[in-house]
Amino acid sequence: MRTLIDVVTDAKARGVAVGHFNISDSEGFKAVTEVAKELGLPVIIGVSEGERDFIGLDEVVAMVKAEKDLGHEVYLNADHTYSVEKAKLAIDRGVDSVIIDAADKTFEDNVRMTKEIVDYARSTRPEVLVEAELGFIGKSSNLLENVPEGVSEETQTKPEEAQQFVLATGIHMLAPSVGNVHGIVKSGEPKLNIERIQAIANTVNIPLVLHGGSGNKPEEFLAAIRAGVSIIHINTELRVAYKEGIKEGINIDEVAPYKFMAEGVKQMKAVVKEKLELFNSK
Ligand SMILES: [Zn+2]
Repeated sequence: MRTLIDVVTDAKARGVAVGHFNISDSEGFKAVTEVAKELGLPVIIGVSEGERDFIGLDEVVAMVKAEKDLGHEVYLNADHTYSVEKAKLAIDRGVDSVIIDAADKTFEDNVRMTKEIVDYARSTRPEVLVEAELGFIGKSSNLLENVPEGVSEETQTKPEEAQQFVLATGIHMLAPSVGNVHGIVKSGEPKLNIERIQAIANTVNIPLVLHGGSGNKPEEFLAAIRAGVSIIHINTELRVAYKEGIKEGINIDEVAPYKFMAEGVKQMKAVVKEKLELFNSK
């Protein structure tokens, strides 16, 4: 079984990206892992603070371990973690990677919090990858009318800052702000800043992670991967598909959850399949 860094390094070398999908229950987990297995691809399960509270951190760690024990390359990321305490807890409980998100803090505070988690992982579970975010990309995983306040070309990550940040913290992966936003902005804006991704990739020698991938066009993803993105996060599109599926399922004359929930799983699987195939095409 490869470790997550092996999987990501290999993806970077081959010019493809690893899919990261957020889930908050066993239906989401089932949808993501079944597609990954069908396609024979590694996959990352993401759980933000709210999502991991719902499914249970220990429970989702156990589910991922069960997949690994069966030989499936399923990895677990503690997505957007806003406190040092929760990031340490996630490392202790067995995640493969953790995102310490102090992007709304000052550069100095972001460095300090991130460095603390990098040092903690090194001294407790050195195989854990630490990712940090630099530059604001919004916090919602909803359908949005407008680009969130505070997200603009001005707030996009600058290559020199990224380099300084990576050197100061020792992080393994960086999530830059490059025209991506969390959630889906209904107008389809903003566009990904491919030149900026390329410029950051050229200055930092670590894998880049694209957050807020829902709503971007296929050709934008492919250009982002070519420019240096090695992991892509999808959340909102899965949430929308799940809810639409459940709405359909609830109308059938069944009370068995595995029957009326099945449509939600089916519609999530369609999203996961489309994205994984795209991220792994060239
Ligand atoms: Zn994110």
